[in-house]
Amino acid sequence: MSTPKSGNALDALLGRMKAAASPLREALLEIHGQYAPVMDGVVASYIPELALADPNWFGLSVVTVDGQSVDVGDHQQTFTIQSVSKPLIFGLALEDQGREAVLAKVGVEPTGEAFNSIELDEVSNRPYNPMVNAGAIATADLVAGKDLPDRVKRMLAMFGRYVGHPVHVDNGVYMSERSTGHRNRAIGHLMLNFGMISDRVDDTLDLYFQQCSVLVTAHDLAMVGATLANGGVNPVTGERALRQEFVRDLLSVMYTCGMYDSAGQWVYEVGLPAKSGVGGGIVAVVPGKLGIGLFSPPLDSKGNSVRGVGACVELARRFGLHLFESGFTGPDIVGELNPRRARGSG
Ligand code: GLU
Repeated sequence: MSTPKSGNALDALLGRMKAAASPLREALLEIHGQYAPVMDGVVASYIPELALADPNWFGLSVVTVDGQSVDVGDHQQTFTIQSVSKPLIFGLALEDQGREAVLAKVGVEPTGEAFNSIELDEVSNRPYNPMVNAGAIATADLVAGKDLPDRVKRMLAMFGRYVGHPVHVDNGVYMSERSTGHRNRAIGHLMLNFGMISDRVDDTLDLYFQQCSVLVTAHDLAMVGATLANGGVNPVTGERALRQEFVRDLLSVMYTCGMYDSAGQWVYEVGLPAKSGVGGGIVAVVPGKLGIGLFSPPLDSKGNSVRGVGACVELARRFGLHLFESGFTGPDIVGELNPRRARGSG
């Protein structure tokens, strides 16, 4: 015979059972089941270590601004953050140098070009935005610190504040990027030639390769999204990851430039600030409400996770998440998780 539960333990158990059976969890399970069999796309192999990923991995997580989470599939599988690091490094550069100094070195215009294109603005010599490699290397240059280890330490501490736990660099991927990143080295040196970055270019490239090689999970990406949705404060730890004034800077460039050269298609269909990476991760943000983390390694021709994009399109459609949605009468995603916060109940 089981021992009777105390009031608090019983409440917690009932809460957990209710969460387990929530309509949002059911929707996520359904969407996961819908996209798991999709075998389109190709796992990135231009960084040799990335080719080792299992193409079947597929994780899906949602974290709300009040810290509740729903996770399905391979949400605990680690992978390298890759370009999803770029908006966060942009944020650190903004905090370290201020908006004016950062914008002198990197623009905020979408390019329509591939992420690794070797192209600078003809008039200003600035890279177009912080989401393409040139702009990301220029923003990495602006991360402060007395030497490379200090800058890496500050970068890792910043990621840790977003995800709510210490993070680590995957050494295999880092070494693989470092030894094959000739194009990124060329971009760095071209910008040095134009005076857009400082002469610590080799350190900055090293910082860039390490920021791309930080290990995260789909749940971690949902935490990053929830932190940005929550004005820069991690909703579980209560720790500030980004000064409130810069949250809009990150969300704006994610909205216009976050999904490689299909940013327009993404905004049209999903309508949320987001960023994807060649490791197969995507973070999407519903400002004031929640973050979505997705992970599945096979990528489409633009470099975005096929299952991740599909799942996000479906999630946005079912819950009316597009920022320009009006008159949506379907279920309220936050209310689905926490009925007390449902639409219209104050
Ligand atoms: N480390 C990768 C590179 O610079 C990042 C690519 C990405 O995720 O877009 O090639």
